[in-house]
Amino acid sequence: MPFTLSAEKTAAARALVAALPAGARVCLTTHVNPDGDGLGSEAGLAHLLQAAGWAVSVANPNQTPARFRFLFDALPGVDRSAEAVKEIRKADAVVVLDISELGRLGMLGEAVRERGVPVHCVDHHTGGGELPAGRRYVDPTAAATGELVWELAQANGWPLTREAARALYVAILTDTGGFRFSNTHPRTLRIAAELLDTGIDPERIYLDVYANAPEGRVRLLAEALDTLVVEPEVGLAWLTVPPGALDRHGVSADDLDGVIEHARSIAGVRLALLFREIAGGRIKVSLRSVGEVDVASFARRFGGGGHARAAGASFAGTLGEVQATLLAEVRTWLGARTGSVDPAA
Ligand code: 5GP
Ligand code: MN
Repeated sequence: MPFTLSAEKTAAARALVAALPAGARVCLTTHVNPDGDGLGSEAGLAHLLQAAGWAVSVANPNQTPARFRFLFDALPGVDRSAEAVKEIRKADAVVVLDISELGRLGMLGEAVRERGVPVHCVDHHTGGGELPAGRRYVDPTAAATGELVWELAQANGWPLTREAARALYVAILTDTGGFRFSNTHPRTLRIAAELLDTGIDPERIYLDVYANAPEGRVRLLAEALDTLVVEPEVGLAWLTVPPGALDRHGVSADDLDGVIEHARSIAGVRLALLFREIAGGRIKVSLRSVGEVDVASFARRFGGGGHARAAGASFAGTLGEVQATLLAEVRTWLGARTGSVDPAA
């Protein structure tokens, strides 16, 4: 079955692009602690928009992690995250990628709101959120925002260069955990195949993203794994990043990508958690589930969000306090389910 885009999606994809004035300054942004999907979608869309005549910049709430800097090698001067607020203040339009909530733009949320220009959005998260007025291209059934950027190109007849294809492949590769997670749909692989058809090298991309690690990433993994606690009776496993460990190993939050998968990989585990301290005296909790446990709905109770099997939230308090409170909540929540969908969730 060849890939086809519905009439509604085609119209929405064209409407978003039609809303960008010709030659305008378009600023792309994504959520705090940007990941491969946020950054790959930005780099891919930046290539596509530049080729179609727009002036594009990227302004993110955090600097691009070392692992993903290669995405901007062929986009000189585009990643302006070091002066993100200044960049947003110059934009004629903003496109928010991989999130639909102003709050998840961290310190940039206020600048985006104050700028008063249209704020368009391309995203695949569930639950929506609040953004200033603009066009929306949101589909929670997409494995990655990168898929949706590919659809924008398709609907608007934009040719895909290798550089754009490589960036979108990174987006899809990382958000599907290397085409392993439940979001790996036939459509995901069809789009990935279209990307590979441009001649990009999947092994080179794998090596750039996953096999170019600083030593500290592996040492951090060792420390985090050492904290593993498993409660087989409730199907729960959790890991804790020891305070100060990122600094000690000279790495960043991006280097924690995938650590939680080790807790989820244990037989019988239905929910895995990763706790870590973040700035502002807050604790970030990542949640990953197996089967029908919907962690996005659980995270939303605490002001967080995400996807059915991968979500997150942050809490005020010390590591000990947040762990005690949240683990108690989780035990009750998991205890009330038998592995099937809880209609109350
Ligand atoms: P991670 O645990 O890898 O940081 O995030 C997993 C998923 O949950 C991602 O889709 C991410 O965007 C979402 N997520 C993580 N933390 C938060 C949060 O504090 N609020 C919301 N709304 N989503 C989050
Ligand atoms: Mn994503």
